[in-house]
Amino acid sequence: MDWTPLSDAIDKNHTFLVSSHLSPDGDNVGSQLAFIWYLKSLGKEVHCYCADPLPHKLSFLQDSALITQNKPSGSFDVLVILDCSNITRVGWNCDEIKVGMVVNIDHHRDNANFGALNFVDASAAATGEVIFSFFKRCGVAIPAHVAVALYTAVMTDTGGFRFSNTSGRVLRLCAELAEIGVNCSDVYERVFSCHTPQALALQARIWSTLEFHLDGRVCSLDMPLSLLDEVGAQYSDSEGMADNTVTALGVEVGVMTKHSPEETHFSLRSKGTVDVGKLAKGISGGGGHSCAAGCTIKKPYREAMAEMLDILEKVL
Ligand code: 5GP
Ligand code: MN
Repeated sequence: MDWTPLSDAIDKNHTFLVSSHLSPDGDNVGSQLAFIWYLKSLGKEVHCYCADPLPHKLSFLQDSALITQNKPSGSFDVLVILDCSNITRVGWNCDEIKVGMVVNIDHHRDNANFGALNFVDASAAATGEVIFSFFKRCGVAIPAHVAVALYTAVMTDTGGFRFSNTSGRVLRLCAELAEIGVNCSDVYERVFSCHTPQALALQARIWSTLEFHLDGRVCSLDMPLSLLDEVGAQYSDSEGMADNTVTALGVEVGVMTKHSPEETHFSLRSKGTVDVGKLAKGISGGGGHSCAAGCTIKKPYREAMAEMLDILEKVL
């Protein structure tokens, strides 16, 4: 990757707006915090906006309050978008503000290269890994709290180092971060073993929707959004549940739905035989990786699910 255009863009500009996708996850938040820190360390003026609030479990990350829900106005020299395969994933209209240039840093292979500058490494396990490579190329001395942010990004996007994107390279970079000062067991516990009673109640209700389809080759879980108020849980408390849909023997594709009365969002998971990223891309606004992807069908749950099962039947 030639990082010179990014270093030049940072050198030549002063005001930066950083943003990432809706439903912020560990990679989104860790990457934003690491990049904000870098820009600030160079004396840049930085505003960071994420349309959805951060999940409570990620608030332990130092400076997490810098990621605000204060909608930006006016103009910025550079808009940096992290971890988004296309610009609509930010969930707000970027045309409402004036920006000199858009910089796109990501690891999704279906990235639309929507920036004036695009740094997309589809072989990276997380956007945090892409940023780590940039920092290394610049010879940046990474402080411990930024190492924690980057480690969180990689740990979450590898599902706690268990998905197929967990490689020797990824483990070596995490070893480097650990040596800088990451307390790995502490980060794991804060992110993965810190459920509120409401979160566990939500997960129990989601488990109760378990269904198998297409001769046991598809497994599904469902979460009506109304359930959140019912049990007093946050949307992010359902994170990770989608991964359970491919843990059963004989299942090839897992589907977790989150639906309002009007539309149904699908989190798709694959054991490898079906490329769910390609499948999601066939549905407007959808996309993702070959084994973990997502899309929305603007129909109520039953209709949307029937449509998804028709699509899956053709590829299984
Ligand atoms: P999750 O199911 O965990 O929300 O997302 C799995 C992967 O699919 C992530 O890489 C995420 O960025 C991507 N993804 C989820 N929903 C969508 C969507 O609606 N559109 C696109 N393009 N990607 C999505
Ligand atoms: Mn990511």
